[in-house]
Amino acid sequence: MTYLAKNYNRKKISFKYGKGSYLFSTKNIKYLDFVQGIAVNSLGHAHPKLTKTISTQAKKLWHVSNAFEIPEGEKLARKLCKKTFADYVMFQNSGAEATEAAIKVARRYFYSIGKTNKNKILCVRNSFHGRTLAAIYASGSKKMTEGFGPKVSGFDHFIFGDHKSLKKKITKNTAAIMVETIMGEGGIKVIPDWCLIELRKLCNQKKILLILDEVQCGIGRSGDFFAFEQSKVKPDIVPIAKGIGGGFPIGAVLMNKKVATGMTPGTHGSTFGGNPLAMAVGNTVMDIVSNKIFLKNVKSISKYFLLKLNNLKNIYPNIIKNIRGKGLLIGIQLHTDQTKFIKKLMDNKLLTIRAAENVVRILPPLNVKKNEVNQALKIINKVCKELN
Ligand SMILES: *Cc1c(COP(=O)(O)O)cnc(C)c1O
Repeated sequence: MTYLAKNYNRKKISFKYGKGSYLFSTKNIKYLDFVQGIAVNSLGHAHPKLTKTISTQAKKLWHVSNAFEIPEGEKLARKLCKKTFADYVMFQNSGAEATEAAIKVARRYFYSIGKTNKNKILCVRNSFHGRTLAAIYASGSKKMTEGFGPKVSGFDHFIFGDHKSLKKKITKNTAAIMVETIMGEGGIKVIPDWCLIELRKLCNQKKILLILDEVQCGIGRSGDFFAFEQSKVKPDIVPIAKGIGGGFPIGAVLMNKKVATGMTPGTHGSTFGGNPLAMAVGNTVMDIVSNKIFLKNVKSISKYFLLKLNNLKNIYPNIIKNIRGKGLLIGIQLHTDQTKFIKKLMDNKLLTIRAAENVVRILPPLNVKKNEVNQALKIINKVCKELN
């Protein structure tokens, strides 16, 4: 008997503790955890610097209202702005809150310049921006919105990769285009740099804002601090969450000076958002993850991992259809059944998670070691061999 609502289809396993890339089940079985709370634990489980930060801060101060100044938050916001395109940061607690706040910032900007009819957000059909009411309608997925009407209006949709449909959907009411730089839940689909550049140009030309949802692909996950970095594109608004807390719930919206003008006192708030405990953890994650050498390591281990996975694809063309992704946001698109494949990996003590389009998602911690990647490759090879 469970008293938890049935909104999850949970695997019958639970864990006692974790250490780095590993999880230990209540039955004392050791698993290689390449889910990491869905790209959340960027530094793996129980990172010594994070446990130290959280216990030190817990003894000092957990929570104060945003009615007062919070120096830990000032510090993290400054680091985020120094490292990125952003001029201002607004802290939340989760990804969905961050994407919703991003929408609010966009609408409020046009309101503040007297263009109140510019309020529609153009999104990718079947994308993922979270599970709150506005976010599910932004995602434009039938499955996620079914039974949750009335529809939250104000969102239009275009098909991923279909540039004609994108251009056609822009109207005089469009305020912003909001896309995931790398679609996570949608099947690890990377927007190529040239597309990001064209997207920016299009937004400039039509005088609309560009929102890049980096909740999953941001904070070093792609090998760069942000997945759009190499394109040199500067978005107007970027919601982040997952990786920035290293396991502690933190969300944030990053924005440039121009759009920030709409967010005057009283326009937005969050009781928990940016409290000292969360901010202390965020600062420690940020210090480690934004380091150039750290990111260089993510890139080099990713290169190795992707190369080896592509080798497996060549050995098992009937099992593996495609290797997708960037950095340590990796997808194995299968010919065979995804559920069965994930189950077999788990039987061999490797934890992974599904994504759309029959993709198995691989999300190691960003500080994963080469021998751990080799261990995962060995297991994936074994499962491919068994199913071949
Ligand atoms: C996970 C995710 C969200 C939602 O984050 P929550 O913390 O679950 O609300 C939003 N956008 C993207 C791209 C995500 O991957």
